[in-house]
Amino acid sequence: MLRKKTNGVARRPQRTSILSQIGEKTVDRRAFLRGSGLTIGGLAAISATGGTVTQASAQTAANAAVENIKSVCTHCSVGCTVVAEVQNGVWVGQEPGWDSPFNLGAHCAKGASVREHAHGERRLKYPMKKEGGEWKRISWEQAIDEIGDGMMNIRAESGPDSVYWLGSAKHNNEQAYLFRKFAAYWGTNNVDHQARICHSTTVAGVANTWGYGAMTNSYNDIHNSRAIFIIGGNPAEAHPVSLLHVLRAKEQNNAPLIVCDPRFTRTAAHADEYVRFRPGTDVALIWGILWHIFDNGWEDKEFIRTRVWGMDQIRTEVANWNPEETERVTGVPGSQLKRVARTMVNNRPGTVIWCMGGTQHTNGNNNTRAYCVLQLALGNMGTSGGGTNIFRGHDNVQGATDLGVLSHTLPGYYGLSAGAWGHWSRVWGEDLDWLKGQFATIKDKEGKDKPLINERGIPVSRWIDGVLEDPANMDQDNNVRAMVLWGHAPNSQTRMTEMKTAMEKLDMLVVIDPYPTVSAVLHDRTDGVYLLPACTQFETRGSVTASNRSLQWRDKVVDPLFESLPDEVIMAKFANKFGWADRLFRNIEMEDAETPNVESITREFNSGLWTIGYTGQSPERLKSHMANQHTFDRTTLQAIGGPNDGEYYGLPWPCWGTPEMGHTGTPNLYDMSKPVAEGGLTFRARFGVERDGDNLLADGVYSVGSEIQDGYPEFTMQMLMDLGWDGDLTAEERAAIDAVAGPETNWKTDLSGGIQRVAIAHGCAPFGNAKARAVVWTFPDPIPLHREPLYTNRRDLVEDYPTYEDRHAYRLPTLYASIQKNDFSKDYPIILTSGRLVEYEGGGDETRSNPWLAELQQDMFVEINPRDANNLGIRDGSQVWVEGPEGGKVKVMAMLTNRVGAGVAFMPFHFGGHFQGEDQRHKYPAGADPYVLGESTNTAQTYGYDSVTQMQETKATLCKIWAA
Ligand code: SF4
Repeated sequence: MLRKKTNGVARRPQRTSILSQIGEKTVDRRAFLRGSGLTIGGLAAISATGGTVTQASAQTAANAAVENIKSVCTHCSVGCTVVAEVQNGVWVGQEPGWDSPFNLGAHCAKGASVREHAHGERRLKYPMKKEGGEWKRISWEQAIDEIGDGMMNIRAESGPDSVYWLGSAKHNNEQAYLFRKFAAYWGTNNVDHQARICHSTTVAGVANTWGYGAMTNSYNDIHNSRAIFIIGGNPAEAHPVSLLHVLRAKEQNNAPLIVCDPRFTRTAAHADEYVRFRPGTDVALIWGILWHIFDNGWEDKEFIRTRVWGMDQIRTEVANWNPEETERVTGVPGSQLKRVARTMVNNRPGTVIWCMGGTQHTNGNNNTRAYCVLQLALGNMGTSGGGTNIFRGHDNVQGATDLGVLSHTLPGYYGLSAGAWGHWSRVWGEDLDWLKGQFATIKDKEGKDKPLINERGIPVSRWIDGVLEDPANMDQDNNVRAMVLWGHAPNSQTRMTEMKTAMEKLDMLVVIDPYPTVSAVLHDRTDGVYLLPACTQFETRGSVTASNRSLQWRDKVVDPLFESLPDEVIMAKFANKFGWADRLFRNIEMEDAETPNVESITREFNSGLWTIGYTGQSPERLKSHMANQHTFDRTTLQAIGGPNDGEYYGLPWPCWGTPEMGHTGTPNLYDMSKPVAEGGLTFRARFGVERDGDNLLADGVYSVGSEIQDGYPEFTMQMLMDLGWDGDLTAEERAAIDAVAGPETNWKTDLSGGIQRVAIAHGCAPFGNAKARAVVWTFPDPIPLHREPLYTNRRDLVEDYPTYEDRHAYRLPTLYASIQKNDFSKDYPIILTSGRLVEYEGGGDETRSNPWLAELQQDMFVEINPRDANNLGIRDGSQVWVEGPEGGKVKVMAMLTNRVGAGVAFMPFHFGGHFQGEDQRHKYPAGADPYVLGESTNTAQTYGYDSVTQMQETKATLCKIWAA
């Protein structure tokens, strides 16, 4: 993207003034850019407001040496290396990382233009507040003072839960960890982030099936797949560089590619078998495939016998999904699904890949578990080439999830129990009673005290209801009165008409972001809105976790631009204001009063995240991996010689024990063909040892080198003593274990890592060796069931496959049956779904503010099947209204295409800045409006939340469409 081509020959960008380059080659380049409001005034604003720093440096840049600095693309979870070319502190050019095993010198359009993400002239340049309807520039000191005072007043009047801390999938790991800790010190579990609404149903479904809620293998390991099954994912657009790996398997192994999606996507265009199915029927589709597998005895019986519990119950449910019933529900002919089943059976190991098409449903946790069961039945788990390769979205949504920016857990999935708080207070060196005192206590129904420290907070998907719901129906005493949206795009959430109301009801709205985001303009507030400029990840340093669980270290490319500050500095400013900075940073080195040392934060989470093995990845080890990328094999990810010999690239978690222990990282989860010390694993013993009289532990199978040659439970100190292995502990380890809970101390709470070290030395997995469970008895649907969407036009199926009764979860009432009982399908006959485009990411503010990307995709649109369009009198390229059954409507351009089947419409979700037909460009601070604005699909998207995680439903609602 940054190459200007002359006669087809690429040349390097000129080493001259960045601003003159922007002025000459970007501003006047397209008429739409002129129309978008970027004029000389925009450039003048840069030099008037901090751009002078950049400009002054640029003047001398031409004479200085170019320094190459490695960073990682911030636009998706593939984790492509960006080599930034920096002269005199100015980022003047970039190359894709050729040594990176993830991207092998490739970038997609977003990665190739990521320099503009940092240098973007549409960034928020200084703190601002809205006063009397006008944006006013303020200082950081004024901002922190006013916001801090306002929050402390709200806290005094309504309690700590009346301030909601909404974090980011864009935080690096250190920022994510610090953010969750920060919320704990403020005294609330009303903290969450984007993962709630992209893969929470994956994390819950997968973790509850076999132990960990993450991608089991890696993008690179797909090279070994003999078949590739993608459902509800469009990596050709959402994770473009991942296609390198998928297509390598297709070409090298002749691996058939099966793509199941309601929409014929760019990924489907590569498929050997495209399965179009009705949105929201994933469970029925998977059971329809399994029906053929069971009917023909094609399942892996030995794998199931030794490593799976509950498959008999699955078999009983699957028996209901004969080809006729499957076709009635999904629309897919039985003959096609038999072919799919045969293909998967004949080409083992195969991988199953899914994304948000599978997760964003009211029964999303059922979908993710059904996908897992398919792989268990095929015996495709714990093997290279197999696994569930779940592609996460944002660059660090995996890390931010692992580090606990979530309302239901502390870092490392420890939960919110007394034990979890005990563990983290030990890591933090904090007085647990002081922490408890920071939280509110409410009365439960019996009038007993209920401390909210142990209760799940409101999830991001429901923050609107936290503001608008009657407190009498909530499990906290007062509504949310202040929202902090820290690196979060509000247009990625459904029900935007109600969101507007909620934003207007708040006492205070604080946006912390490199860009103003739709939060700046969605509402009609005249006061009480603050915009604080955060740095991009190119202006700080730290680790980021790719979808495959590898951690990569980003070096700082440039100093903070304009008046922006890194997230960790902004958190320190607030902590100082609130008076507990000394506590928060007790164990963290400070470079000055407001600058925590990033490596020191890494070391603090290294010392506490034993559950998922974020303990071995010291900053030094991660930096060494980045520096020696070329030594890692591009398929196995293992270093061949060199300083990291034998380790896996990025030390994919779990990287057990202390850094000094030198664990290799775990490339493929649950792979028993390797010793645990070398990246092998069993399924986790997480759900007890017995169920319904059955043994839940593995039956006679174990990792290579295991001294326990059968299933075994998770390790505790008592277990080491029983096995006679406690003598292997050092005196220091023994003392640390005794200080926690003596014999009760387990592999997750032992701060010395001794229990893990000794278990692994004997060839065992610290978390035990169990069967995966195909039936999750703790969930609303223990066996995954098909349930019709809340808004369905298949009224004939509602009786057979009803949704849930209304429930109460995460402090709020949640509606199911009371919506589904109403028939909206006569007025809203078309199914509405949504998804990604290659040019943009997430809510799109960053990428729509990038001129290189903006020119590629200038209009928001809706895809309509020509049959529907002709019946509705709609022409290609014309403006139409799309309205959802809750009344939200958007005015967009019609694209007539057979990508969608008749009766289905699709809209991308990256647009914002128009609302129900009105252009809101004038509401942005001057010079900070994205080039491209458009309607948000989520204005028309409706209510609906997963029964376990509160994931929002965006893939199967209804709409009506008419010519505008
Ligand atoms: Fe790579 Fe994803 Fe960035 Fe594209 S968006 S360059 S695939 S990390």
